[in-house]
Amino acid sequence: MKISKLAVDIGHNVQFDGGAVGIRSENELNYEVGTKLIEKCRAAGLTVINCTPSSATSLYDSLNQRVQAANSNNSDFFISIHHNLCTGGHGSEILCIPGGRAEGIAKIILPEISKLGFTNRGVKAGNDLFVLKNTNMSAILIECAFCDSPVDMNNYNPETMAEAIFKGICKAFEINASEHCSPSEQTNYYTVVKGDTLSSIAKSYGTTISKLVQRNNIKDANLIVIGQKVRVN
Ligand SMILES: [Zn+2]
Repeated sequence: MKISKLAVDIGHNVQFDGGAVGIRSENELNYEVGTKLIEKCRAAGLTVINCTPSSATSLYDSLNQRVQAANSNNSDFFISIHHNLCTGGHGSEILCIPGGRAEGIAKIILPEISKLGFTNRGVKAGNDLFVLKNTNMSAILIECAFCDSPVDMNNYNPETMAEAIFKGICKAFEINASEHCSPSEQTNYYTVVKGDTLSSIAKSYGTTISKLVQRNNIKDANLIVIGQKVRVN
């Protein structure tokens, strides 16, 4: 399953469409996770349509602008970022219109979020949600965590949440993002052989000399020795 154009909707964040307010504000969390997710996807080569409107005249207008942005740009997939509110609840869930491609993708992304320690509340039907119902492409709405739950909000980190969603997207859409995955999982070393230069190694691994110098604490970029292990990502 491949995509080239992803629509990302940062939930609420405009007049007439305010988010929930718990221990933290949903607007703020959606914005932080959403912008980080957009950055990661763009860095991985995806075209990302940010569907979040800058202003709205009503709740309908806010939701409709999001849908129109995704539809008019012919996006391949739509992801809306939200945080839940319900006294006593905690964990993550993904809403979609069941039975199609969206459900399959939701089931790949949600376990990535639970790996961070959030309770997996499951993939649920969201047939009545405006943005899911009216987008032309497969669409999901992620309730990342509960903004009023001490369990979820204690040490909540938008960066790791965005990274988990991004990893799920990479898995679902077969995007090779080794450059962007956590080093512990994806670190690769190259052993220097005769004739190598930092420049030739950089070229064959699609990186730059300065990145190699930085990753390996190399003092002199012109001096590498045969047998030396060079971290290439
Ligand atoms: Zn919301």
